[in-house]
Amino acid sequence: MTNRKEPSRKTTGLIFADTGGICCICKKDIRHKNGVSADRAHIYGLNLGSARFNPNLSYEFLNSAENLLVICNDCHDLIDNIAPNEYPAERLLDYKYNHIVNGILEKWREYLRNFYDSLDAIPYDDITNTAEASGWLKKEMSIRVNQSNHLPPLFLEKLKKDMEGLMKDTIEDIDLYIFSDDESE
Ligand SMILES: [Zn+2]
Repeated sequence: MTNRKEPSRKTTGLIFADTGGICCICKKDIRHKNGVSADRAHIYGLNLGSARFNPNLSYEFLNSAENLLVICNDCHDLIDNIAPNEYPAERLLDYKYNHIVNGILEKWREYLRNFYDSLDAIPYDDITNTAEASGWLKKEMSIRVNQSNHLPPLFLEKLKKDMEGLMKDTIEDIDLYIFSDDESE
């Protein structure tokens, strides 16, 4: 049996953009440093006989961003050849979820840090006026999440809970809006 065609360049570009240049399993820098290279790995294997192959899954799904992971070449070898049984699909999905969500949360932590730093820079009497003017006293926030990496619905629920936990002292009501780059095509 000949091997199936690999994912498109567009899908590959999409998942590489989500990594932040870090292997989502071992957290090594994979931006062509120290001889480490980034690999595109299938969570459920693409070809018959490959690691985590499941004959019930469609070719389209297998090559979609949802089923792909960006990792270093060492981890790719580990999950596909050295210890595939220790890396079932569920475990790899966890790595993918945590990597993406932590990236999103880190951006929000930085955003909130910058916000409080900016308050420090404002003379005390001006703080309330400034906060009111910028809507920060409303204690609610709408979050837009780019769903280009096609996280499963269960993961999105977890993401909302994680964000609410992170910002519970600041924001009372979070409205999570999921959008996709694909929508604009
Ligand atoms: Zn790695």
